[in-house]
Amino acid sequence: MKIKGIESRKILNSNTNYTIEVKLKTEHGLFRGSSPAGESTSMYEVKQFKESIDQIVEKFNSFLKGLTGKDVSSLNDVFEIEKGIPEEFIGGASLSLGYALVYGLARAKDLEPFQLFNQKPNTKVMPVCKMIGGGMHASRAGMTIQEILVLTMADSARESIDHTIKVYNEVKRLLSDKTISFIDGVDPEGGLVSGLDDYESLEIVSKAVGRVMKETGADIRLGIDAAASTFYKDGKYSYKKPIYGKDILTKEEQIDLMVKLADEFGLYYIEDPVDENFQEGYKEVMKKVDALVVGDDLTSTKVDRLEKVKGDINATLIKPNQVGLLSDVVKYSELSDKYKLAKIVSHRSEETNSSIISDLALGLGAKYIKIGINRGERVEKLNRLMEISE
Ligand code: PEP
Ligand code: MG
Repeated sequence: MKIKGIESRKILNSNTNYTIEVKLKTEHGLFRGSSPAGESTSMYEVKQFKESIDQIVEKFNSFLKGLTGKDVSSLNDVFEIEKGIPEEFIGGASLSLGYALVYGLARAKDLEPFQLFNQKPNTKVMPVCKMIGGGMHASRAGMTIQEILVLTMADSARESIDHTIKVYNEVKRLLSDKTISFIDGVDPEGGLVSGLDDYESLEIVSKAVGRVMKETGADIRLGIDAAASTFYKDGKYSYKKPIYGKDILTKEEQIDLMVKLADEFGLYYIEDPVDENFQEGYKEVMKKVDALVVGDDLTSTKVDRLEKVKGDINATLIKPNQVGLLSDVVKYSELSDKYKLAKIVSHRSEETNSSIISDLALGLGAKYIKIGINRGERVEKLNRLMEISE
């Protein structure tokens, strides 16, 4: 394909903030790419925009002008273009450009976007969906940890989504029965929000999972994203409400708590159980539980971080905007395979309506995609996942 015109503009994301969209014109039509942002970010991830969006749009447009007339005929050509992007645009701007090029190229080659990464993927991608939200995503909620999740061990994404919806609706019912603090509201990722604390919320989701398993015969597991860096300071983890009788936990107590919750609720998935700089803590948790111990803030989709902590986790999130370049995302994904880590492509709290992460999850051979089950910008991705998984 030939780049006939290309420019960026400011658009809204799902959380009343701005991001950048790149609009690409080729002989095959108009293609758009846009990048998300995170509310609870890691100290290791790239900054999405190094200046105000208006300044970036203006400067980025002069860079983009220089791409006019270029021929792009493979993903490698996209990676070559990425090599020329000045450092100041690496983050949200570079990723929006990468996504626009992927959409344009896929159309030019009459392929689906995921096929640019793998023509015939043989993996099943299962959703890991948020049920209840807390932490930085819902600062007035009762939960200190950020997310309670469910994963269903189904034969297809469609079946998994079916079961997940049942659990979500059951959680909603149980929350309505249990507390007047639940007024049917959701956090930016579609997680339900109430005043119940971490333990009570886990009990609710566990009960809902039990009921749906009984009704459907499905195998459904619980998970959490503690996002522990967000409530860690000066050697202490501070909980809003006591859990097992304590609200201020030492580093060792935080590890013990994660293990205790894993045992009590049969957790299958534990993301960022301790602070992002406490890599030995991840390893301790991993030794003591039979679960996926997932790096997110720890790893930040950065190859150098993964090299450093690869022995301390058995699974990793892939959030493309943490690194900003598709070529780096592919390298990170390949390295995760080399170290036999389970891969989970993930949404961010501040999303756009683009469903490209579903294509990426399939194309990169990820076992899971982490996503919300509610809110339009999440649903768009689930619908795409069902479409390409069939
Ligand atoms: C996460 O922490 O896993 C997450 C998706 O949230 P955010 O985008 O705020 O980092
Ligand atoms: Mg996380």
